Amino acid sequence: MTVHYLDNNATTRVAPEVFEALTPYLTENYFNPSSMYDPAHGPAEAITSARRKTAKLLGNARPDEILFTSCATESNNTAVFGTIASNPDRRHVVTTAVEHPAIHSVCKDLERRGFEVDFVGVDRNGRIDRAEFVRALRTDTLLVSVMHANNETGVVFPVEELSRITKETDPDIVFHTDATQSVGKLPIDLRGAFKNVDLLSFSGHKLHAPKGVGALFIRRGTRCRPFLLGGHQEDGRRAGTENVAFIVGLARALELAMERHAADEARIAAMRDRLQSELVSRIPYLEVNGGKAPRLSNTLNLACHFIEGEGILYQLSAHGICASSGSACTSGSLEPSHVLRAMHVPFTAIHGSVRFSLSRYNTDADIDAVIEVFPEIVGSLRRLSPYWDATKNTPRPEAMAMLEQTEMPH
Ligand code: PLP
Repeated sequence: MTVHYLDNNATTRVAPEVFEALTPYLTENYFNPSSMYDPAHGPAEAITSARRKTAKLLGNARPDEILFTSCATESNNTAVFGTIASNPDRRHVVTTAVEHPAIHSVCKDLERRGFEVDFVGVDRNGRIDRAEFVRALRTDTLLVSVMHANNETGVVFPVEELSRITKETDPDIVFHTDATQSVGKLPIDLRGAFKNVDLLSFSGHKLHAPKGVGALFIRRGTRCRPFLLGGHQEDGRRAGTENVAFIVGLARALELAMERHAADEARIAAMRDRLQSELVSRIPYLEVNGGKAPRLSNTLNLACHFIEGEGILYQLSAHGICASSGSACTSGSLEPSHVLRAMHVPFTAIHGSVRFSLSRYNTDADIDAVIEVFPEIVGSLRRLSPYWDATKNTPRPEAMAMLEQTEMPH
């Protein structure tokens, strides 16, 4: 069966150019870059060059501002725990209600440790509540952590503006952004628009590098204590033998994303927009979560009223279509996504979200495959739903009123 992979916000395939660049460091150039003998110089230089390239591609950051890690989860944990360990006098943190669990659960953990955390809300379209954000900032705020693009909906937060407001409130507040879904898709200029960002996390496997490598930008002068202690790798800031091959792959993947950005972006946006308009026009009671907000051009999160996203995913999978219900972390659980809850998605759709996320390797055939089967999958599941039964026989205004309720009526 042909596989139609539309889950690129979960992970991406390794680009052939990336694979080619990294394999010599798994085979003939496998030496430990910290070793003294001559053959180890190649891998050590490869890391230096990857660091230089990564820094440059993020808007002329300094190479020593780039720390290579194992994933975005590690980068986020390092950013948060490194910041709180370096600044013991402040105990207030501001984040949003829709962060990835790699920040959300870290912030929940901070609350258990006695920190005060404000989780700033979003509107029905996933846009941050600016007024609430401004009110949340305090003179004892230590850290602000706001994601750049949301993994479930693709909604993009105005990081440039939020980081500027933060620094205007108090230049000592550390500003972190989780840019895991945006690096390679949106321009990141750490000397320009993002000049007020102190810490920025991302991961290789979202941009066609392998799983198992990530990075954290730490602006010079930002105090961030090492999270992993041990050897002196990464200038003493992150212990553990460097994953040379994957670091080389990460830098190459970023380079490739920048080289191809204009062409890829236009093609991906056109495919996503076609998928959206075809499905919305063919299926009643289908909404685009975050559809009225600035969004990544590769992401489409659909709220399918009256049915379960899991059921849709199983049926899509039977047709070779790989999509997700938004977050890998909520799949298999009855708990609705905290992102959709924060967006006040009504109860009739809170379990019915399906996320399609595209990459440069998608083609029109993938989009056609979804358009062909999705309406019938939704139709067949709705025929089994008691709420659908009630709605299709209810005059439309009353049905629409039900679609506004966030809690199930008793
Ligand atoms: N942050 C965001 C926004 C993500 O989408 C993800 C992965 O889905 C992560 C962090 C975690 O990334 P990793 O798998 O590299 O730890």
